[in-house]
Amino acid sequence: MIIDLVNKTVVITGSSRGIGREAAYRFAREGANVIINYKSSYEQAESLLQEIKKINKNCIAVKADVTKVKEVEHLYQETIKTFGRVDVLLNNAGLCSDNRINMMSEDQWKDIMDVNLNSVFLCSKIFSKDMIKNESGKIINIASMKGQIGCEGQTNYSASKAGVIGFTKALAKELGHFKISVNAVCPGFIVTDLNRHNEEKQTAANSLSVIKQDNALDDLMNFLVFLLSDHCKGVSGRIFNIDSRIK
Ligand code: NAP
Repeated sequence: MIIDLVNKTVVITGSSRGIGREAAYRFAREGANVIINYKSSYEQAESLLQEIKKINKNCIAVKADVTKVKEVEHLYQETIKTFGRVDVLLNNAGLCSDNRINMMSEDQWKDIMDVNLNSVFLCSKIFSKDMIKNESGKIINIASMKGQIGCEGQTNYSASKAGVIGFTKALAKELGHFKISVNAVCPGFIVTDLNRHNEEKQTAANSLSVIKQDNALDDLMNFLVFLLSDHCKGVSGRIFNIDSRIK
């Protein structure tokens, strides 16, 4: 089976660093038109854009805070202006800000909900306009195992990701009428800026998988490419744990 993403226009929120960055490069390598999105990491986004342009000219980088409706509209307009349509939205932007419940401020709670959950609503609402018109498209939300099993010191993060899972299931039912699929992917532990210096979190992140692997990134990227491709057409409303044990 040959899988490629040629002629697919893919928007990846929060792709200046971490998982989103890897995805942008990998999708571009498979032939996709890629929209890199960032909020503040201009230099990282620009360096990724230059890297990608060596292998695929069809790539742009757009600054937009995905928690702000006007900025998401701007991201959408730039996508349509450059590539004429949108085929895939990968809702990847995410943050964590950990504390036990008695120490967690309201701002800590709200900020995480805003970036991890509200942005998924906003981007899905705005980008699905074009998908509905075309009666075609895919929305993939990056959730987390922690939204399924919960994690101490991360009530905000765990609740936001559980919210993404519920949102995915409901939206899949709504958009299925327009042949648009909506799925969520829960990665295993992948070392990024989100968790690099937190040994405790690494242990807590241990998943239900029985196979030990240091970094689940390759499996995740391969799986995402399959999910985006024309080889995966009718799967929707599903939550995929692409994880492995880390210790
Ligand atoms: P990361 O390395 O910290 O990268 C986060 C990305 O999100 C950055 O590119 C950042 O861009 C962007 N971002 C944050 N707030 C934004 C906003 N308001 N608007 C636009 N972009 C924004 O994190 P990561 O580990 O790659 O995580 C990516 C996703 O995977 C998250 O949803 C996370 O919850 C999920 N996840 C990660 C793991 C893991 O083990 N790493 C496991 C399960 C799930 P700027 O730098 O420009 O702000």
